[in-house]
Formats: sequence, structure tokens, C-alpha cells
Amino acid sequence: MSWTLVVHGGAGTPPAEELTPERIALYEGGLREALAAGGAVLAAGGDALAAVIAAVAALEDDPLFNAGRGATLTSSGRVEMDASLMDGATRQAGAVAGVTRIRNPIRAAEAVMRRTKHVLLAGPAADAFAAAEGLAMEEPGYFETPHRRAQLEIALKRGVMAQDHDISTKVGTVGAVARDAQGRLAAATSTGGMTNKRDGRIGDSPIIGAGTWADTTVAVSCTGMGEAFIRAAAAHELSALMRYRGLSVQAAAEQVALCDVPDQGGSGGLIAVDAAGVPALVFGTPGMHRGVWRAGGAPEVAIRRAET
Ligand code: ASP
Repeated sequence: MSWTLVVHGGAGTPPAEELTPERIALYEGGLREALAAGGAVLAAGGDALAAVIAAVAALEDDPLFNAGRGATLTSSGRVEMDASLMDGATRQAGAVAGVTRIRNPIRAAEAVMRRTKHVLLAGPAADAFAAAEGLAMEEPGYFETPHRRAQLEIALKRGVMAQDHDISTKVGTVGAVARDAQGRLAAATSTGGMTNKRDGRIGDSPIIGAGTWADTTVAVSCTGMGEAFIRAAAAHELSALMRYRGLSVQAAAEQVALCDVPDQGGSGGLIAVDAAGVPALVFGTPGMHRGVWRAGGAPEVAIRRAET
């Protein structure tokens, strides 16, 4: 059986004048690295969960993306990161929210899943847990980039809480979904959240069933205005549409991203992969940074709508 890996680097697209060929090359390079990291796991016969963790960790390390290093800032200028993952075969899940010092929040989510009886740890206790688990920790300065500071200043001036791309030349939240050669599915999502979010605000990304979901039918990772994805129970809804209404992964993804989430007043996109390895990449925004790699094929990445 073959494998499929899909990644996203956030819904939305920087303004056309900022999308220079050099910038496009940087974004695409980041997406390709994530595909390479996760694809290497799958090509070696590794499991879907390990692949999505590797792909997301690569994007967390890339300051271009709004996760880990390069995360957006809260209204008081702090980095507060959220991440989650889910193993479709076992429905085991782990998540962290509002963490400030963990280099790779997705690895902390994995540790929550494997090493505790819980699904979600939040705040300073989650940072302390990660440190006790021996995960790499960083000072706040590691995560903040000059660009994110400038972005916050614009958002504060405008008095808005902004999705990363609304005021940004850098792209957003990251995620990955995979179906491995044994047919197992997994999903992972990581984010700094929205620029100028209130301190303590938690979006959809660490909420199992909202920003992330995996079962034996489908694996899903979302990006966009988190409050709308939570109210739509977006990632789980996609699975429910497939299981109870018999929709294809593409039709279910379109229903959620293009109808249910907008009905809740938000916009964004999602990636999904079904049990047969069929991917769906759907977004209601002008673009979504995204990539797909299927066994036997070449990795493909795209940013704008026209490229789909
Ligand atoms: N969904 C993320 C959040 O609301 C933001 C994003 O995907 O850009 O925190």
C-alpha cells in the first residue's frame, strides 16, 4: 500500500506586491522541507504519526511560519503557542496550549499523549511538563522575530485581531496529515495563533475535533479564524460527514471549509487525507500554503489559488 503526506503553512496569502519570486521560493522551500522530513519517515516504512510530527516540527523551526520560532504575538507582545496531534488508529491524542518556552510544541503534544493520562495541558504547567520531559526549551527571544513585532504594532494601531496573513508577509499556522503504508492515519497542527489575540486566548489548533482530528476514516488539520473552527467542530465534522453521510473526503472538506466555517463567521482552510490515501486541500481564502507528496510521485507545493 502506498503512503500520502499533506502539509499546510496557513490559509491566506500575503498581498500580491509582497509575493516576490524570492519570497515564494522561501515559502515553497519551507513546505518542501516539511514534506521531505515527513516523507522520509513514510518512505522508510514509519508510521503516520511520526511523519506528521516530523513535518510539523520542521515548520516550527522555520521562522517564516507562524508556529514555534516565528510565532505571532499576543496583545501584550508575548508568544503563546498551541499544538495538537491525533493518532487515527488508536484515537490517542495530545495537545498543549498557551506554551511560551517549548522549542517544538508538537513534541510536547506528543509527550502529553504518550506520558500522561490527559489530552491537553495548558500554560506554565505545560511548559514545566515539557522541560521535565527533557524537551528542548528556549528563551522568549528565540521565538520572536522583528517581523512579528512589526505585525503586532500594525494590529494594535488598527485595533484588530488578525489572522496572520491579513497583515503579514509571512505565512501562518502549520499542519500535516498522513496516511502511512500500513493504512494508519494521523494529524498534527501547531500555531502561534492570531496576531494581537488577548493574552490567554486559545484557538482551534490545540482543540481535538476543532483544529485537529484523526480516526480510521480521515485525518484533518485546519487553519483560519480559530473561533469559527471551534464553533463548527470543523475537523470532527469533516469525519462525521464522511462516516454518517457517506461524503468523499473532497466533498466533506468543501462542506466544512466553504460552508460550515463561513457560517460561523470565519474563513480559512484545511487539509485532509482519507483511509485510501486520497488528499483534500480546501480553502476559502485567496490562497493556502500547502504541499502534497504521495508514494511514487514527486512532492508538490503551492501557495495561491490559481496553482490548485
Ligand atoms: N487557527 C489559528 C488560530 O485561530 C490561526 C491560523 O490558522 O492562522 O489560532
